Amino acid sequence: MSSETLSNLSREDRRFEPPAALAADANVKEEAYARADSDREAFWADAAERLDWGRKWDQVLDWSNPPFAKWFVGGTLNASVNCVDRHVEAGNGDKVAIHWVGEPDDDTRDITYSQLKDDVSRAANALIELGVKKGDRVAIYMPMIPEVVVAMLACARLGAPHTVVFGGFSADALASRITDCEAHVVITSDGGYRRGAASALKPAVDEAVEKTGDLVRHVLVVRRTGQDVDWHDERDVWWHDAVDGAPAEHEPEMHDSEHPLYVMYTSGTTGKPKGILHTTGGYLTGTSFTHWEVFDLKADTDVYWCTADVGWVTGHSYLVYGPLANGATQVMYEGTPEKGRWWQIIQDLKVTIFYTAPTAIRTFMKQGREIPDAYDLSSLRLLGSVGESINPEAYIWYREVIGGERCPIVDTWWQTETGQMMISPLPGVTAGKPGSAMKALPGIAVDVVNDEAEPVGNGSGGYLVIREPWPAMLRTIWGDDQRFKDTYWSRWEGLYFAGDGAKLDDDGDIWLLGRVDDVMNISGHRLSTTEIESALVSHPKVAEAAVVGAADETTGQAVCAFVILRDSAGDGGEDIVEELRRHVAKEIGAIAKPRQIMVVPELPKTRSGKIMRRLLKDVAEHREVGDVTTLADSTVMDLIKTKEGSSA
Ligand code: ATP
Ligand code: MG
Repeated sequence: MSSETLSNLSREDRRFEPPAALAADANVKEEAYARADSDREAFWADAAERLDWGRKWDQVLDWSNPPFAKWFVGGTLNASVNCVDRHVEAGNGDKVAIHWVGEPDDDTRDITYSQLKDDVSRAANALIELGVKKGDRVAIYMPMIPEVVVAMLACARLGAPHTVVFGGFSADALASRITDCEAHVVITSDGGYRRGAASALKPAVDEAVEKTGDLVRHVLVVRRTGQDVDWHDERDVWWHDAVDGAPAEHEPEMHDSEHPLYVMYTSGTTGKPKGILHTTGGYLTGTSFTHWEVFDLKADTDVYWCTADVGWVTGHSYLVYGPLANGATQVMYEGTPEKGRWWQIIQDLKVTIFYTAPTAIRTFMKQGREIPDAYDLSSLRLLGSVGESINPEAYIWYREVIGGERCPIVDTWWQTETGQMMISPLPGVTAGKPGSAMKALPGIAVDVVNDEAEPVGNGSGGYLVIREPWPAMLRTIWGDDQRFKDTYWSRWEGLYFAGDGAKLDDDGDIWLLGRVDDVMNISGHRLSTTEIESALVSHPKVAEAAVVGAADETTGQAVCAFVILRDSAGDGGEDIVEELRRHVAKEIGAIAKPRQIMVVPELPKTRSGKIMRRLLKDVAEHREVGDVTTLADSTVMDLIKTKEGSSA
């Protein structure tokens, strides 16, 4: 972006006040903002008190060598003890930690905190037998089964940082991550269930191990599907042999607050994935506190469900570490969102808090509300959204159809790098606006600035930045301090550059506008992808939309849109393209009218549901399509290119 600010086009006047009962009994009230402002470090120290520490810290924050932060300096703790042992010691051993729901019908397991403690201890002992020591990295490539949580916590217990790789990624993607963090042990399974069929995982591990030379010494394999696997006796070990027979007692060591907890590679939406390093004390403080704060968690009564895969940061912060540190009861589901299955699970397990991504919500909108309407969703009391901006239309649908118009929606902005939620409404405090993530959470200092790093002020757009360190912030990029500085801290002195565009409305509330790299320049106007996509999605025939700026001789760039129609719209009719172009012009102005609209069956998305606009830009500019290795389904680009060929 140049010094010109982002044009601020869309309007949204709907407001939803917090339910009175929730507001009265909220975990975090309005006063928290002022308390955090008056003494940020004291605020986070209070949040850290919610955890069990081996040794208390001497200093809350050491920021003497920016951008390298140290939180709770001198303190020691063990993340797995905080997530498991302490709940058993507090008398909650019989409480269900995880209601696990497998993809095949009737394949379920309830795991109590006591059982989880025993399993984690056994797995820790088994990893020791395989030679894993404190500081060693362990790669995890698994489906959504309870063993993946056990494996992560066992690593945390030993102080062996894990790197979880999404089970849908290729052998190449796995190999590059194993190599980047030099893992000697890989934990996997024979396979997992996807869309009703068993699909193999072990062959990809075999291939990846092959590609990484003699780096990997052991592969620990969970038997999940029972399918045949190639076996290498000197290297491969069955989980049921190594873990099930191991002792259920393991004496945990207290690790330094800054001991590495895990490395997570970013989605790669904008480029080569970065190995984001998170450490222990600050990360666990930031995730457990925000999980309790933003979801208003009542650990004794709530049933929480986050639909994210563990291969994504959301699965780390808000499926494993945050909820378990808080002693929550949660749902974990192995499958993908098939028609009514999610709503069946909410009905059966009486889920009260539900956290998912806008892409899933739009998929359900596409299929029609009759499907969720057939289930009893009255147990729900709070809904969350993460991964991209929720379009106002999707917000309203989520609120009405899933939330029965009673549940507040928390639209949570954060990143792999931030580790914890940063911008979100507080459900008992904030009157929500559809499409806005609202305000920085208490203790978090974000701003929107222009090229000169000056605050743009209310009513304008610019770059989203973070002004002050926060507990769960990334500590570096694994093995590459220079890339860490260059990527996030070099644009302006002392400011963290998030890479996202945002605007402040007249009340000072924040609207995320998409990636700065994706901002379009149309005849000198800077337009956001998010606003035009939201305008398209507000048309009753459109389910999903992606917008890119393609080179154009007269206007510099032109808006090109890719849309998926709702099932009820059929093929949209002959004039659908013209109808949608007019609709965008009416909603936000003639300047935003797409030059070209392609109706497509699918959009290219990462595992976390993010649209890879750079690939669509390749199509719009008639180029060879770039790297597709982090797509959830790499065949999607072929479908789109076929469409392109037929319409050109
Ligand atoms: P890479 O950095 O490799 O391109 P990525 O940014 O897609 O990958 P993540 O860390 O999973 O990887 O995603 C964080 C990004 O997701 C944010 O920078 C933002 O663009 C988007 N995002 C997440 N939550 C929200 C939200 N509530 N509203 C708007 N955007 C969001
Ligand atoms: Mg990113």
